[in-house]
Amino acid sequence: MDVDAGHGAALGRALPTPSQDMSFTRRLRSLLSFQGNDDDPVATLTRTHRSIHPSADVAVVRRSYAIAESMHRGQFRKSGDPYITHPLAVAQICAELGMDTTTIVAALLHDTVEDTSYTLEALHGDFGPEVTHLVDGVTKFDKAYYGKAAEGETIRKMIVAAGKDVRVLVIKLADRLHNMRTLDARSPASRARIATATLDVLVPLCDRLGIQALKRDLDDVVLFHLEPDAYARIDAHVKDRPGWNEYLTDVSTKARTALRRSRVDAAVTPRPRHYYSIWKDTVAGNHNVPLDLPRIAVVVDGPDTDCYAALGAIHGRWRPVAGRFKDFIASPKNNLYRSLHTTVVGPEGRLVEVLIRTETMHRYSEYGVATTYRYPKVADEPPGADQLTWLKRVLDWQQDATDAGQFLDSLRCDLAEGQITVFAHGNAYELPGGSTPVDLAYELGPQQGDQCLAATINGRLAPLSSPLRDGDVVEIFSETDGHVEVEPNAPRGPRKEWLGFVKSSQAQMQINRYFDEKKEPGISIADKVRLGRATIGLCLRKHDRGLASEVPLRRLAEELGYPDLETLLVAVCERNLEPDAVVEQLIALVDHPD
Ligand code: MN
Repeated sequence: MDVDAGHGAALGRALPTPSQDMSFTRRLRSLLSFQGNDDDPVATLTRTHRSIHPSADVAVVRRSYAIAESMHRGQFRKSGDPYITHPLAVAQICAELGMDTTTIVAALLHDTVEDTSYTLEALHGDFGPEVTHLVDGVTKFDKAYYGKAAEGETIRKMIVAAGKDVRVLVIKLADRLHNMRTLDARSPASRARIATATLDVLVPLCDRLGIQALKRDLDDVVLFHLEPDAYARIDAHVKDRPGWNEYLTDVSTKARTALRRSRVDAAVTPRPRHYYSIWKDTVAGNHNVPLDLPRIAVVVDGPDTDCYAALGAIHGRWRPVAGRFKDFIASPKNNLYRSLHTTVVGPEGRLVEVLIRTETMHRYSEYGVATTYRYPKVADEPPGADQLTWLKRVLDWQQDATDAGQFLDSLRCDLAEGQITVFAHGNAYELPGGSTPVDLAYELGPQQGDQCLAATINGRLAPLSSPLRDGDVVEIFSETDGHVEVEPNAPRGPRKEWLGFVKSSQAQMQINRYFDEKKEPGISIADKVRLGRATIGLCLRKHDRGLASEVPLRRLAEELGYPDLETLLVAVCERNLEPDAVVEQLIALVDHPD
């Protein structure tokens, strides 16, 4: 039973704190220097990989390392280390997660296409389509070509690639974890920027993939860079707690006895929280000292129902704290996490948190989508990626997101919201927290959304703007299902005001699409340019002015940040830019040039 007891150090050593023994980077550096391992820089990697997958083919790992090393030769990290230390560390993180050989090979090669002369064609010839797909999925779009859209388009590309093969995201997360661990060589401003971006998109993605082993480390390294003082305070607190380990040993022993008396076969281990989760609870509860309750994990050796027997044994031994019991087995989170949570009044009257799960649940809780790679022989377990309905949903709506900025905004929104599960017409649907019946209607399909008229929540008629709650049973009535009397003159189709309350990206985009199609049926860009120009002409005439040439208009477009005059005219036509404001600025520009 491999209940992991370390916090923040599940994958290599966690963070570059001065008090810590060898950091991962330093271990690598020593590995690559004169410690007798000089002739075999991949030894640790292959050993880790073989320890989880004994029959793995390490020859292909060596071959990919040799190519990556020769392609990156002469390149250096900001820290001064040879560049190859980075892909090697990323591959090591993937190996420790238990990923397969293909992932390790792709991790070693993940920056070759982006940063060296190695091409996708060469990669395909050398390592085949799978590795090529993975490397291509994490290769950034060129900023020089895509400008501001590069970031959004890169993430979109990565998500689409992950729809075919979720290992793309695992490599990307490992890549970011290592980059975050080696941020020390960067300026404080760029450290904060990278850490914030990580917190914004990649940490929530990691959470959705259910890879807690990786998320803990990402969380902690983000905290280390964004809140260094808080990190140091928690670090000092955790390292100096007299009696803490003795207390946890005592609780674990007593819990084992209680479980044995109830004939529940289970392993009990202390389960420390990681720094970020201590910090979050401390801040949320407004505490002066770090808040960190002792916590144990009970992993039962038996079917799911044994978890409830274990819960009975624990509650029989110590009084549970009201309102702290959560059943993530009956109502699983959307990220493969399943467990029972409870808090009890333990020995000496101290509160103790208890997690209860089976061995299978434990594996999924730790490794999420990586579970099926780590434990390939375990039969009849649910395949990880197929359960990721949010990923399917993102893949659906991303097709409607026309520009990269809109895509990124919607993705952030989708990832930020807590998820709720509602039931409709006999099926379960996952929606962002705060979703309404309209969101659900669009989840059922664009037509159901456009035509939705009324809804009942748990059997009662409710306004279409009512926020739904986890577990609600909802019925949607539409124009075409004949259940609702429609007045002949009643307005048809979606209402503009729906945009004020819908939460899901899917609903927002579908409603916008509906009104875009209504507003200007078949209007071309050239028409919009002409209309925009005419609108400005009319406004100028109100001021008794006219345009002798387009030069001032072009200058204004440039000053307002538009790539060209046509784009500004389209913006005027679509009323994203007020014509009166444009004309005022235009007059000022002509009258006071400089
Ligand atoms: Mn990289």
